[in-house]
Amino acid sequence: MTEPNMNYANLKDSYLFFGIAQKVKKYSEINPDKKILRLGIGDVSLPLCKSVISALTEGVSDQAEKSSFHGYMPECGAPFLRTTIAEFYRKRGVKVADDEVFISSGASDELGDILDLFDKDNSALVIEPAYPAYVDANVIAGRKIIHLASSLDNGFTPEPDEDKLADIIYICSPNNPTGAVFTKEKLKKWVDFANAHGSIILFDAAYEAFIEDDSVPHSIFEIDGAESCAIEVCSLSKTAGFTGTRLGYTVIPKALVRNGMSFNAMWIRNRTTKTNGVSYIIQKGGAAVFTEQGQKEIKENIAYYKENAKVLMRVLDECKIEYTGGKNAPYIWLKCPNNLGSWEFFDLLLDKIQVVGTPGEGFGSCGEGYFRFSTFGSREDTLHAAERLKDLFGNL
Ligand code: PLP
Repeated sequence: MTEPNMNYANLKDSYLFFGIAQKVKKYSEINPDKKILRLGIGDVSLPLCKSVISALTEGVSDQAEKSSFHGYMPECGAPFLRTTIAEFYRKRGVKVADDEVFISSGASDELGDILDLFDKDNSALVIEPAYPAYVDANVIAGRKIIHLASSLDNGFTPEPDEDKLADIIYICSPNNPTGAVFTKEKLKKWVDFANAHGSIILFDAAYEAFIEDDSVPHSIFEIDGAESCAIEVCSLSKTAGFTGTRLGYTVIPKALVRNGMSFNAMWIRNRTTKTNGVSYIIQKGGAAVFTEQGQKEIKENIAYYKENAKVLMRVLDECKIEYTGGKNAPYIWLKCPNNLGSWEFFDLLLDKIQVVGTPGEGFGSCGEGYFRFSTFGSREDTLHAAERLKDLFGNL
């Protein structure tokens, strides 16, 4: 008999988003006249910018002519896009070679696939609250997972702990769900820790474009020593609205070597076996994000989401609700008032003011008592939600 991967039996049900959807559905059925404002989703609401659309359209036209038609694309990414992205790093003062950049179909795909590079007996450290895929991908692979809880006391950016050693270390900055960012000093501690123990950091920079503090690193490779202990996974999903278009990139330095094995060379071998590259049209569209005009346009979209964040932060400040995020990230992570549990607060918001957010408990047990608002919704919904929240907090 075929033996299935029994690790799937160890996965917790994806209760979070399913649970939210069920509760919202039930509420809407009972109250069809009530307008529900959704601040729960991590998906963008603005369309792709003009430069990207023009490049995508050009890409389609290229595929219509024999002279400009592209068949299979190089497995690790189109040279034009790898160079463009490496240049983007170099302009920011970060040394990255063209062949250290790999093009992907997005960060989720990559975060799962990249685990192929690690021995199955490697352990993984997850700083929680965390994006749930880090835990789930390692449960599927049967790895030992070490949970490191963070809290408001350390601004949700804990320092390494000698009692919590692991082979693979996940760091997400700006963080989903807490919106917290790791400073250069804190990241340096993690880089030194990883180098001292031979660990590898998987640095998730999916939200780097939302950083507005000049002192906060956009890339782990801004930190000395990171080239020998880190892989950086990036995405155009939130940066440029590619959630449904799909494009990401990953940086694997050639200096990243363990046991005589180069992770860069292993990833080339992996990609040439497991993919036939990302679509030419999409890579063409992605390259437009890095042009001067493309950068201007995506920044306008990001500014729109940041204005949403300000609307919500204003209410939280006025009502003296503790929170992190909003400034360098598209998420606001707040302490539920009156010591309510995450799901209790969820029910309260849905019942009283028809605002939907994400209960913190879904991001790990230390997220209990917290709640996440996304700033990716429409301005109109965010403004209405802010008014309703203000009324509710005033009456608690
Ligand atoms: N990493 C984090 C922290 C995320 O929040 C998300 C998506 O929400 C992803 C990765 C996945 O992004 P992508 O759309 O590129 O798969």
